[in-house]
Amino acid sequence: MPELLLRAQKDPAEATYEESLRPRRLAEYIGQEKVTANLAVFIQAALARGECLDHVLLFGPPGLGKTTLAHIVALELGVPIQVTSGPVLERAGDLAAILTNLPVGSVLFVDEIHRIPPQVAEVLYPALEDFCLDLVVGSGPGARTMRLQLPRFTLVGATTRPGLLPPPLRDRFGIVHRLDFYQPAALARIVQRSAGILGVKLEEDAAWEIARRSRGTPRVANRLLRRVRDFAQAQGSEVITLEAARFGLERLEVDAYGLDELDRRLLSAIIEQYRGGPVGLRSLAATLGEDQGTLEDIYEPYLLQAGFLQRTPRGRVVTDLARRHLGYPVLAPGGLFPEEAP
Ligand code: ADP
Repeated sequence: MPELLLRAQKDPAEATYEESLRPRRLAEYIGQEKVTANLAVFIQAALARGECLDHVLLFGPPGLGKTTLAHIVALELGVPIQVTSGPVLERAGDLAAILTNLPVGSVLFVDEIHRIPPQVAEVLYPALEDFCLDLVVGSGPGARTMRLQLPRFTLVGATTRPGLLPPPLRDRFGIVHRLDFYQPAALARIVQRSAGILGVKLEEDAAWEIARRSRGTPRVANRLLRRVRDFAQAQGSEVITLEAARFGLERLEVDAYGLDELDRRLLSAIIEQYRGGPVGLRSLAATLGEDQGTLEDIYEPYLLQAGFLQRTPRGRVVTDLARRHLGYPVLAPGGLFPEEAP
């Protein structure tokens, strides 16, 4: 199913596949040149001073390489990494336990850091600023606060929704980088690299075809490669040619712009049920039977950046590009359908 391919939560096989394709060093990380160049400087400077790297916040849509970068930062610093995520840290004690057990200098990677509960974030503030933990000992009138010194560490936070971070948390990151969607040239290099690791022969034009249809996202590119390879194998082909790639992509219902069935459903719903918009996010989510956060995090960023959708103060509006791409008539000035125009 196409939607499973592009959106699914990772299953264990998928996680292993991704893991095997992860670049390990900064030099292997393709694209996002500004981010990697800056990180390289900051890492070098921290190493030269023998200090911890400042806390790093990475934000951007899913699948662009935030987790990969966090691991690279640890490796380049030559320190261990501890991985957790916002929703897993349910109680302040969970975080306190992790912090007190961190080896000196390590990287603590918190994925989906915007989902950290407020009472847990409170524990994080003094830890980030002064590397200490304020513990309340006892209860009632006899309760007192004890300060516990923590080992120095670097927090790397990743989020798809930086706007949802509490400002005191956001302010404690010295290094903040946004990851952007990748250009096809970078994605073509990424799938070529992945094909090399997998031992598959991928022709240049096939790599570009996959790259163009990957919604600017390395995770999607690697998933498409994996499925296209399956189709090619099923046809007894050892090499992924342009034809084999196109055949596979068509079978997966990924269109020329990389839109899948769910993207098309979203755009069609706005066109057919809201005359192209504006429509508020809440109504749209109800119409599609989807969660608002999922729409905002996963569907919209690429549709906005690729020019299929616009965000206005009154809601979402589809563009002429979307109408043309989906075979709908383009509206005449004044928002009238061609047959309604005077
Ligand atoms: P995020 O944490 O942003 O959701 P990940 O770091 O898990 O994304 O990356 C998803 C997949 O894409 C990984 O398997 C990784 O191999 C691949 N990937 C991401 N960025 C790059 C890159 N710049 N170069 C090569 N592969 C990448």
